[in-house]
Amino acid sequence: MIHDIAVIGAGMAGASLAAELAAHARVLLLEAEDAPGYHATGRSAAFWEECYGGPGVVPLTRASGAYLAQHGFLTQRGALYIGRTEDRAAMDEFRASYNGTGVQIERLAPEALAERVPHVRPEWSEALYQPACADIDVAGLHQHYLAEARRQGVTIATRARVSGLARANGVWTITGQTGETWQAATLVNAAGAWADEIARLAGVAPIRIAPFRRTVAVLQVEPQAPADLPLVIDVGGGFYFKPDGGRLWLSPHDEIPSEPCDAAPEELDVAIAIDRFQNVTDWRIAAVEHRWAGLRSFAPDRMPVYGFDADADGFFWFAGQGGFGIQTAPAAARLGAQAVLGLGADAMTAGIDPAAYAPARFKYNWEVMFSTQGYSSKASAQNVIDSIKQNGPDAEVEDNS
Ligand SMILES: Cc1cc2nc3c(=O)[nH]c(=O)nc-3n(C[C@H](O)[C@H](O)[C@H](O)COP(=O)(O)OP(=O)(O)OC[C@H]3O[C@@H](n4cnc5c(N)ncnc54)[C@H](O)[C@@H]3O)c2cc1C
Repeated sequence: MIHDIAVIGAGMAGASLAAELAAHARVLLLEAEDAPGYHATGRSAAFWEECYGGPGVVPLTRASGAYLAQHGFLTQRGALYIGRTEDRAAMDEFRASYNGTGVQIERLAPEALAERVPHVRPEWSEALYQPACADIDVAGLHQHYLAEARRQGVTIATRARVSGLARANGVWTITGQTGETWQAATLVNAAGAWADEIARLAGVAPIRIAPFRRTVAVLQVEPQAPADLPLVIDVGGGFYFKPDGGRLWLSPHDEIPSEPCDAAPEELDVAIAIDRFQNVTDWRIAAVEHRWAGLRSFAPDRMPVYGFDADADGFFWFAGQGGFGIQTAPAAARLGAQAVLGLGADAMTAGIDPAAYAPARFKYNWEVMFSTQGYSSKASAQNVIDSIKQNGPDAEVEDNS
């Protein structure tokens, strides 16, 4: 049987996209592991935070909010970005970068910060509050998409590690590590940290999707962490923590370059997290109960990549979900399905510019333009690229990347 679409990877990205495609096409979902969700998807910190990922990701996060809320996957928590007096300029810059995005950010007085975060040290006096931030039921959302996919006839194969890809006569032949083969007209690369590896297998130029390790430790603190503590994030990017069942989830906000792998936490990163936490609060740490690490995978511009490869027939990228692949999943999957199927936008995606996430953007290399073409700033090189793009989709471009 020749499937219309084969999706490689059944993490949040592949599962959500398969579910969105299912009503329109015969879809095959291939997952290397025994069960979907073993890698990044099963290791997230489970928040939906409108600012997370930067202003360019806000449209995807906000467009996903209503779907997540309607299906009961969100529980309001609120997020506090905190800093010291010397961080005031950084806080202002952070806040200003979200002007016009629709994100609501309030400045809090030091007393209000101390009230919301018991045990915070007095030098941490600056705070911005983002009330909409919520916890996400990640497993619930992932299972919801897998169930939707199954219900609509998607074939899901686990222990199906793709090891060979070849295209002939408009059809991909996909070979699994155990020798099994499948066929599909369109291939979707939703392989997370392995996205570039899948491209190489298909003979497609990689985009340089780079995996970075992130660590989370679960702390038993005394007294117990209150259930209504907000997500607390260092505006300087040194840590975040949030409560869960009386415990605290703490991350040093690490971003350690890694090969694609089954990531494991390192003691040093846990120690760094604890050291930073103790500089922010005087909470007593009674125990480190548990720790884990996962890979967050980024394209060079840290924006996700959704779209057909310009040079490879029938090869669709759905990768680079970074640290926001859960909170953006509903809108990303809808947008991705519309792009695969050639459908127009609907109410969920109407406010999103798909060009911002298209792989074609890597054909315009502003780093090269900036360093070789005499532009005084990266912004002016980017402006030139934007105007080249506006000359029309058929404008000739050079791939310098
Ligand atoms: C510590 C941590 C905290 C995070 N916190 C948040 C958060 O609070 N909110 C948020 O929105 N995001 C968060 N993220 C990011 C989020 O987890 C990811 O963006 C998201 O899970 C990516 O989903 P994915 O499906 O692309 O990748 P994955 O879940 O890694 O799935 C990719 C799948 O592809 C499969 N695969 C790879 N190669 C092959 C092959 N050859 N054949 C078949 N299958 C293959 C893998 O087995 C894997 O299951 C966090 C990530 C980490 C690590």
